[in-house]
Amino acid sequence: MTKRVALQLTGVERHYPQGETFLSILKGADFALHSGETVALVAPSGTGKSTLLQIAGLLEKPDGGEVKINGLSCGDLPDDKRTAIRRNDIGFVYQFHHLLPEFTALENIMMPQLIAGLAKAEARERAAALLDYMRIGHRADHRPSELSGGEQQRVAIARAVANAPLVLLADEPTGNLDPETAGYVFEALEALVRQSGLAAMIATHNHELAGLMDRRVTIEDGKVVEF
Ligand code: ADP
Ligand code: MG
Repeated sequence: MTKRVALQLTGVERHYPQGETFLSILKGADFALHSGETVALVAPSGTGKSTLLQIAGLLEKPDGGEVKINGLSCGDLPDDKRTAIRRNDIGFVYQFHHLLPEFTALENIMMPQLIAGLAKAEARERAAALLDYMRIGHRADHRPSELSGGEQQRVAIARAVANAPLVLLADEPTGNLDPETAGYVFEALEALVRQSGLAAMIATHNHELAGLMDRRVTIEDGKVVEF
């Protein structure tokens, strides 16, 4: 089986200015993520997990190196093209859910689809199916403040995959949850990834959850290494 490279980082550099010098976080990081594959990113705080995910998700630009999404080099693309790729090909889940507080769970999942130009009825149908899949169909009309932390994160995951992205990037998506809740949110996330064939990279401190994924990588001296 030939695996398609969904995301490729080559020689990625990131240096934050710090006083007179620079704090070098990524120093030529290479990484490839294939369709249908789940990879855990496990590294101590401050090593650059969020930086790496933000660069991979085209939310930030690296100081050097290249980010390819589905074979397309994204560094020199104009902002509108990067935004389009981010909308269509990348789903992002944060540690804090970032759901829109004035909208219901269902509406939050419909939103990216409507922005992508889908008809309302279709967006609603897909949002409802995703909520069912995440086993929170009965919470469709609740606003984020009326949901538990685990439910909020499941809505955030459903929203991230609403446009059927190629790549899912999650930055400590269960970091805020108690272990039991983290376990079933992670399970739902994994099932969704397996079922949809997307490529997922998930930063987590939880070694048990990381053990469920296909591969584990860490950041060492500014580079991505398998372990
Ligand atoms: P992690 O997600 O692994 O905890 P981060 O990628 O958030 O690590 O941060 C890596 C390092 O870069 C940290 O030391 C952090 O303080 C620093 N850093 C992150 N973002 C910035 C920024 N915008 N400006 C300066 N330093 C930053
Ligand atoms: Mg982080």
